[in-house]
This record gives sequence, structure tokens and C-alpha cells, in this order.
Amino acid sequence: MNKEIVVSGIRSTGHLHLGNYFGAIQNYLSMQEDYNCYFFVADYHALTTHPGPKELKSNVFRVLAENIASGLDPEKVTLYAQSDVPEIPELYLILNMLAYMGELEKVPTFKEKVRLQPENVNAGLLTYPVLMTADILIHKAVKVPVGKDQEQHLEMARNFAHRFNTRYGCDFFPEPQVFRASNDTVKILSLDGVGKMSKSENINSTIYLSDEDDVIRKKIMKAKTDQGPTEHNSEMPDYIQNLFVLMNQVSSAATVDTFKNAFNTCNIRYGDMKKQLAEDMVQFVQPIRDKARALQQDETYLRQVLKRGAEQSRESAAKTIEGARSLIGIKYY
Ligand code: ATP
Ligand code: MG
Repeated sequence: MNKEIVVSGIRSTGHLHLGNYFGAIQNYLSMQEDYNCYFFVADYHALTTHPGPKELKSNVFRVLAENIASGLDPEKVTLYAQSDVPEIPELYLILNMLAYMGELEKVPTFKEKVRLQPENVNAGLLTYPVLMTADILIHKAVKVPVGKDQEQHLEMARNFAHRFNTRYGCDFFPEPQVFRASNDTVKILSLDGVGKMSKSENINSTIYLSDEDDVIRKKIMKAKTDQGPTEHNSEMPDYIQNLFVLMNQVSSAATVDTFKNAFNTCNIRYGDMKKQLAEDMVQFVQPIRDKARALQQDETYLRQVLKRGAEQSRESAAKTIEGARSLIGIKYY
């Protein structure tokens, strides 16, 4: 049976958090049985911000360890580092000839970077969507699980695929579609009620998979709440809703029901709710954190995973590049 091909990248920019887990990794876990998954650590993409060599390497190993600790199984999915597949930059170069300055300069994430880091507007930032397209097309993926922020990049990937096909009169690259898993609308807000949990922002109001038990407790106890509702069945403010979203993920259905009823009848005591949530969250994060830590001590194993992932990924990538080269006419002997 031919499984559909899915590609997704995980940037090695910081520590993974509950938003990454419930918003992305949980979807990956549900896909790993039914799809042919290629998941990679996007280390070339991370170079746009010029990390030092030590930092880059430790980020790559940590992200890999945290993903495996979260349940991604290297036996079921192909897990690899982007930089281990030279066919990706080759395809990137080819696609760059079909990408135009005008369309790249118009991309909102690029304009945002220009605004935020005017001192480092490198060409890699400009062509980021082209590299992302190469990441996807190199395996001829048909589905890509991405968040809202990435939808426009995926549309560009479809355009570039279509442009290649038209230019060379073929039907070589499929046009990749956004993959929507059932729970991919889960968005975890920052616990202070401002913005979302993030690797690079809201650090004190984001729960990381590497946080110690007491740090988790402290962050949850500090989460934004209010005086509580004064009318039965009131609408929930989003910061309260967020606590229930988290509780839904980690507490028993009976516990969630108890606090929902308390909210609906104006009897809720947020202190009690946060205490319960904190304990259930500690239970949830603990095994992932401990496993990620142990994996990071075992570099030999992580290297093995990367090596095997690179081999599997290159096998698929080599076929694609060979086909593309021959369509373009770069096949001389
Ligand atoms: P950065 O701050 O470096 O942008 P990030 O925390 O936003 O990091 P990304 O690497 O941009 O994380 O995203 C990885 C995946 O996690 C994406 O699929 C994204 O949609 C998802 N994601 C990130 N933050 C959240 C969140 N708070 N809630 C739900 N999903 C999230
Ligand atoms: Mg982000």
C-alpha cells in the first residue's frame, strides 16, 4: 500500500513548549502510523540568525531528543537534519531561478524580519520560502502540516511546483496541500494572557517540556485569572478558556467537568483549579522531560537516528533530483 507523503520541518531555535506539543507534535503522532512521514530539523533555516557552531549543534540535538521523547518514533518516521541532504540545496538553487524578487519581497514574514532586524536582511531570509519549497518538493510531498502562519509559504510552494511543471512541460511535482488534523486548531495562549506560548517570546508565561516540576507549578499559579463570573453560564474570557484547554489535555474528564460546572454556577475558585492543573501538568511533562534529558546524554543514539534518517531521506531525494535534472536538460552522460 502506498502511503501519502508528508513533510514537516522543526526549526532548531529554542526549547519546545506546550504550544508546540499540543499544536504540532500531537498531530505528528497521529500521522506517523498512516502516512509516509519525513520530519526534519531545519538547521539550514536556523542559519538566517547566525547561531554559533556550538549553539547550533546543541539546538539540533535537543530538538531531536525532545521530539523523540514526545513520542515520535524514528522506526516509523524518517527523522533527519536538513543539512544532511545535499539534494535539498541543489533543488533550492534550481527553484531560485523560477522565483522572482518581487514576489519574495512581498512576503509578510520577510517584511516583518526587515522591520525587526534591519541590520541582518540577508538573501537567505528573502529566499526562505524557496528553501521551504525545496524541503517539501524534494520528497514530492502532497501534505504539509503547518500552522496558520505558514499557509502563505505553502501557497508559494504550490506556485513554484506549478511553475516548474509548466516550464518543463511535465507533471513532475505535486502541488502540496495544507494538512489539517482534527485538533490542529489548538492554540495555546501565553499564561499571562498576552500572545501565545513561544520558543522565543513570553518565556516566563510559556511552559517548556524541559521545565522542572516547581517551575511548572510556579508558572501555572501565576497564570492570569480574575474575580470569577457573576452570572451563570457566562462566556469565558480567553485566558480562562486557555486554562481549560490545557486541563482538557492533561486532566481527567471528571476533573474538567467539576471545574466547568463550578464556573457555570459561579462557584469556581481559580486557586484550586490552578493547583489541580499544575499537578496534572507536572505528571504530564515529567516523563517527556526525563526522557529528553536521558536522550541528550546519549549522543551515540541520536547520531545513529540522524545517520539513518539521512540515508533514508537521501534515497528519496536522489530520485527527485535525478528526475528534475533530466527534465531541465542537465544530464550529459
Ligand atoms: P519561534 O518563537 O521561534 O517562532 P514558536 O514557538 O512560534 O517558535 P515554531 O517553530 O514557529 O514555534 O512552530 C512550530 C510548530 O508549533 C508550528 O506548527 C506552530 O504552528 C506550532 N505552534 C507554535 N506555537 C504554538 C502555540 N502557542 N499554540 C499552538 N501551536 C503552536
Ligand atoms: Mg513561530
